[in-house]
Amino acid sequence: MRYTIFGKTGYRVSSLGFGAMNLPGVPFEQARAALNYALDEGINYIDTAAGYRNSEEIIGESISHRRSEYFLATKTNKRDYASAKEEMERSLIRMKTDVIDLMQIHYVNKVQEFKAAMEEDGAYRAALEMKEKGYIRHIGITGHRPDLLTRWIRKEQFDQVLFHLNLAQPFALDELIPELTRLNMGKVAMKPLSGGFIKPVDKAIRYPFSQDVHVIISGMVSVEEVRENIAAMREEVGAAERTELEALALQLGAHNCRRCNYCSCPVEIAIPDIMISSQIRSTFGLLPKGDGFYQKNKDKILSCADHDPCKEKPICEPMCPYDLPMRRVVMEASNYYAASPEVR
Ligand code: SF4
Ligand code: SF4
Repeated sequence: MRYTIFGKTGYRVSSLGFGAMNLPGVPFEQARAALNYALDEGINYIDTAAGYRNSEEIIGESISHRRSEYFLATKTNKRDYASAKEEMERSLIRMKTDVIDLMQIHYVNKVQEFKAAMEEDGAYRAALEMKEKGYIRHIGITGHRPDLLTRWIRKEQFDQVLFHLNLAQPFALDELIPELTRLNMGKVAMKPLSGGFIKPVDKAIRYPFSQDVHVIISGMVSVEEVRENIAAMREEVGAAERTELEALALQLGAHNCRRCNYCSCPVEIAIPDIMISSQIRSTFGLLPKGDGFYQKNKDKILSCADHDPCKEKPICEPMCPYDLPMRRVVMEASNYYAASPEVR
């Protein structure tokens, strides 16, 4: 396991972080075993959020007796002072701890949301007060817009940023990561598999590992998954492998979707998932989880072609700050069904 100093926090963190988002979906004993095994093997960064169902409680029940062994990061998606404060206090109780190492303002993707969180009556002040009282050690922010995050961190109100970085979403490398490095902030990459879409898995995990980040958060739910993730990061990435990974990222990131979620579709087509998975699907095919997504959303995806209001001018496209051809990509996904009877 590689360890680095986590920016200005000074904490020595493991390169692999335990993403606890999916723990509520497995039996408690399995979750407890996975968390304890991760600590036994040297993972010392645990990431969760108040919004991940009872994930915080599972952490509290499973590993709070080993509290000195891990850096504990959670998140609030509240934007106003009162509800953020209430949620942070609840997180302390749920995780059975006196102090949270990192409280992140969760999923901030729009300027209005950032302003709401940062104004006098916003969530940031609640976090700051909790920090002054010693209940929180550091404050961070998470989001899907590397360009906006790059702007927002310049006032140095945060110690850390959590962002997407994977073979299909390499965009944080352009400006955000260099700026975080310049400001000596904590750099945490999430979703190495982009929610279960990316193949090949070993390369997917090694791509963010090859980049200038401190921690890669991987969602894990079993001892076996912890073991696999640790194995994928055992060897450092050499020059030849780095070149290969960079070329793959260029190819799989060609969809250019930042997952900002600015677009919406009247027939509820999950546009960002289709944009991001499209390149992976056409290059490597899909992992079972990605295929499951397509099965579940097949009817909606097929309905794009018949949605009359979009035939002349797609409703979604003017919403995209990157001018992406969403209808064309959704239609290509429809064609995937037409050409692949086995997935129907
Ligand atoms: S073009 Fe397709 S994906 Fe876009 S809004 Fe219309 S139906 Fe939805
Ligand atoms: S398609 Fe455009 S608007 Fe929609 S999530 Fe991707 S980048 Fe954002």
